[in-house]
Amino acid sequence: MDYTESMKKILLIGTGGTIASEMTDDGLAPKLGSNQLLNYIPRVSEICDVECMQLMSVDSTNMTPENWLTIAGCIEAYYDSYDGFVVSHGTDTMAYTAAALSYLARRSRKPIVLTGAQKPISMDVTDSKQNLLDAFTYACDDRACGVSIVFNGSVILGTRAKKVRSKSFSAFASINYPELAVLQDGRVLHYIDLGYRERAKFSHTLNGSVGLVKLIPGTDAGMLNYALDRYDAVIIESFGVGGLPEGTNGCFRAAIDKGVAAGKLIVITTQVQNEGSNLTVYQVGHALKQQNIIEAYDMTTEAAVAKLMWIMGETRDPDRVRERFYTPLSHDILYTEAE
Ligand code: ASP
Repeated sequence: MDYTESMKKILLIGTGGTIASEMTDDGLAPKLGSNQLLNYIPRVSEICDVECMQLMSVDSTNMTPENWLTIAGCIEAYYDSYDGFVVSHGTDTMAYTAAALSYLARRSRKPIVLTGAQKPISMDVTDSKQNLLDAFTYACDDRACGVSIVFNGSVILGTRAKKVRSKSFSAFASINYPELAVLQDGRVLHYIDLGYRERAKFSHTLNGSVGLVKLIPGTDAGMLNYALDRYDAVIIESFGVGGLPEGTNGCFRAAIDKGVAAGKLIVITTQVQNEGSNLTVYQVGHALKQQNIIEAYDMTTEAAVAKLMWIMGETRDPDRVRERFYTPLSHDILYTEAE
């Protein structure tokens, strides 16, 4: 049987990560190019026609917003030449890259699929081959679109992914949103159709001046002052549904007032993985609502970071940032104060 007529053309973009790593004297390091990854999955030739591009070879610990722009730029440059894109990537910051690509290449009718692995592809026991084959299978599916992570048989929306296990193959979860699909025995079973039917809309700028302050009991308020001096926007990962302590060595609320007056953007989110924030519940959160801050509600921290960088790449006007932050994109935020 001749499959070539109907075969989809997919671009594999290599960036490094465990999937492409080999053992060195100092531990695992990315060594294999995307061509070499393909050699481990000869069966891919029955699924699609793949061409390879190696953009970088980094442990994703070293990924930066500039790298996100490079990946998005590559997808834009080759958008018309391929039916879909598979990005092989380290798992540690894959959720950030997936969120960033969701904003940099919006509502893409062509699937942009990230995958990686917890064990290198050259090992006897590895999740690499299955994840890569699944990523190609999903990228070739007629209903696949938008940005997603394919991992351990699940298809997770790019704005909703989080790494939740550091060692097991089930490394990713979809947070506050259902999985888009699952892969079983090489078949895609869809739960949600994103329905994007147009060319992706690309952006070319990010403002990387976003900091994150994770609170612990007794956090020194000077931490927030420092972050607000240093960054254009600061995300505070608070506790539970959200609230702000009075402050040790200074006052958090005063730091926020000072930051807002200086034109800084402040986003409150929660360090609890599931269900998101609601600052109106407790007195410790309520007062913040009067302080002109933004609340992340059910968004992941990864999506909040990427969305802020994307919006602030285009505007620093606090009202416009707020409005755009609360405007859902790729189902990144469901629960907002507008409702
Ligand atoms: N440290 C690796 C990375 O993120 C982990 C992995 O790929 O699983 O590149």
